[in-house]
Amino acid sequence: MRAKFARRVAPPPNPNDKEMTMTSRYVDFYRRSIDDPDSFWTEQARLIDWERPFDQVCDASHPPFARWFVGGRTNLCHNAVDRHAARRPADPALIWASSEVGQERVISFAELQAEVEAMAAMLREQGVGVGDRVLIYMPMIPEAAFAMLACARIGAIHSVVFGGFASHALANRIDDAEPVLIVSADAGSRNGKVVPYKPLLDEAIRLAAHRPAAVLMVDRGLSPFERVEGRDLDYAALRARLLGTRVACEWLPSDAISYTLYTSGTTGRPKGVQRDVGGYAVALAASMAHIYDGRAGETFFSTSDIGWVVGHSYIVYGPLIAGMATLMYEGTPVSPDAAVWWKLVERHRVTVMFSAPTAVRVLKKQDPACLTRHDLSSLRALFLAGEPLDEPTARWIADAIGKPVIDNYWQTETGWPILTLARGIEPAEPKFGSPGVPMFGYRVRLLDERTGEPLDEPRRKGLLAIEFPLPPGCMQTVWRDDERFVRTYWSSVPGRQVYSTFDWALRDEDGYYFILGRSDDVINVAGHRLGTREIEECVAGHPAVAEVAVVGVADALKGQVAMAFAVLKDPARAAAPEDALALEGEILRRVDQQLGAVARPSRVRFVGLLPKTRSGKLLRRAIQAVCEHRDPGDLITLDDPAALQQIHDLMKGTS
Ligand code: ATP
Ligand code: MG
Repeated sequence: MRAKFARRVAPPPNPNDKEMTMTSRYVDFYRRSIDDPDSFWTEQARLIDWERPFDQVCDASHPPFARWFVGGRTNLCHNAVDRHAARRPADPALIWASSEVGQERVISFAELQAEVEAMAAMLREQGVGVGDRVLIYMPMIPEAAFAMLACARIGAIHSVVFGGFASHALANRIDDAEPVLIVSADAGSRNGKVVPYKPLLDEAIRLAAHRPAAVLMVDRGLSPFERVEGRDLDYAALRARLLGTRVACEWLPSDAISYTLYTSGTTGRPKGVQRDVGGYAVALAASMAHIYDGRAGETFFSTSDIGWVVGHSYIVYGPLIAGMATLMYEGTPVSPDAAVWWKLVERHRVTVMFSAPTAVRVLKKQDPACLTRHDLSSLRALFLAGEPLDEPTARWIADAIGKPVIDNYWQTETGWPILTLARGIEPAEPKFGSPGVPMFGYRVRLLDERTGEPLDEPRRKGLLAIEFPLPPGCMQTVWRDDERFVRTYWSSVPGRQVYSTFDWALRDEDGYYFILGRSDDVINVAGHRLGTREIEECVAGHPAVAEVAVVGVADALKGQVAMAFAVLKDPARAAAPEDALALEGEILRRVDQQLGAVARPSRVRFVGLLPKTRSGKLLRRAIQAVCEHRDPGDLITLDDPAALQQIHDLMKGTS
């Protein structure tokens, strides 16, 4: 079956165009969010429970800082857990499946509340209170979600650090967050291999200047570890004693801090993104209803990790706030085989699924039949985010599963989509290569980054910016660094205080946006400004190519030239040097024909894998540095050093 994908959509929404005359349900919805934000957000705020109603929808008196739902008091854990446990105690809330250890566990809302209260009681016993930080360094196990929700329950600020990070990265984050307590586990598991966490954690605490008072250890029985006397606590023993203890939700001011989280670190030093309570709860509830179209009683499956923003918004808080069961998965998309996710879809009647292009590219190297061996009839749509979704990848997965595939563009900073399609309002059809249109509340603009001039006509390439105030749910500031927040995000466009996404985009005649790459990935070849994304998209369209990275490399003559590194679906295709040359020629001709000779990479080199962050994002900046024989700098988030080494070896002897 072929997925329903847009050829031409009628009538296309163009929410930015004030002169637009066509009618569309989403356009009206969007308009109201921009023209009458007070009534719009008051209505959305009814999706959650408030202990005390707010007096003011948005305090925008101190730009670029915005406070949402001022005077209101609420609690994330109450909205995610208690209110559903009260009405539907036996319904599944958290479904945990691990292909790593071959286990599955279904936890009802009532059980989830009991587990969260027990964990909250443990934190309280250690003196953790409102505003204290708790760092969570955990594999994908239910206790990680309990810990997050327990913090939310008692008003502690959680800071989840991706479990795959090693000591150095962890130590930096310990010093930034200064946690009273750390929650961790003996080990994670990756591709069937046990990865001990405790030695990494102990080393990180040794490296850090800050000393946490306590470490709460969950022992999965995967890897024996040493306990530090007087510091390390045993979760199982405490749980046995405290399960059944009632710990009431702490009602918090809407603008209290719920958590801090670091960006993926694709372009440099990660930033500690700080988020509120009330605005986040409302934004997530609204996005679940209007974007993902997820309904209470159904199952949501996000394949991300709690260490990333997608894990915060759409594994833990979003689905639960919406009263859905959330499926939490430990493992890869291809173990024991590429049917593993789809089997879960069938078994748990998943209606909405959320993954990343990088995972789809992994599946693409497998037999597509694995994807349809199971009954996917419950599934309404697959959402993908985190990276540009190139057309061949989108088409491949849409064809393979026969479902709408919806790209959504956002950032750790925003917490929920900036650009996508609001399927809960109107199931508009996606256009390949475009994440869609601006979401409600986002005043999206394309600007000339040198002059700040708005680029309102279609097909002008510009910096994707958002006008003040950012909608609810977006970052409040950089943790403990208001000045960095203003300087980094709000000061990059001359003459205007707008939020910069640092992504480059264009809008077509129909109001659909296309992301062209990060603003620092724009390359300048003999005076032509090119987005590396455009070239990547073209190269990826070659049938032999599984994925590709294009970077700009300094060139004495042209300023910069593009350099492509491609992973082939079948590596044997380029095994012999003459085959590699022939294939390179084919790809280069393709770029010539589709984009023109200026965009033609100087070389296309074939590699076994590309350097990525642990979240699966391409580290173009590191590739570029290696190509220019520079130090790639802070590689704290690099997944597999072998990938960069291979590029380094290929580029040796070039200048
Ligand atoms: P850092 O900010 O530390 O460099 P990062 O930007 O990779 O890291 P994230 O917040 O995880 O950290 O990623 C957001 C970025 O990912 C966006 O700014 C954009 O560049 C890219 N991105 C996310 N979703 C999409 C998408 N659907 N299409 C294109 N790009 C996307
Ligand atoms: Mg970023």
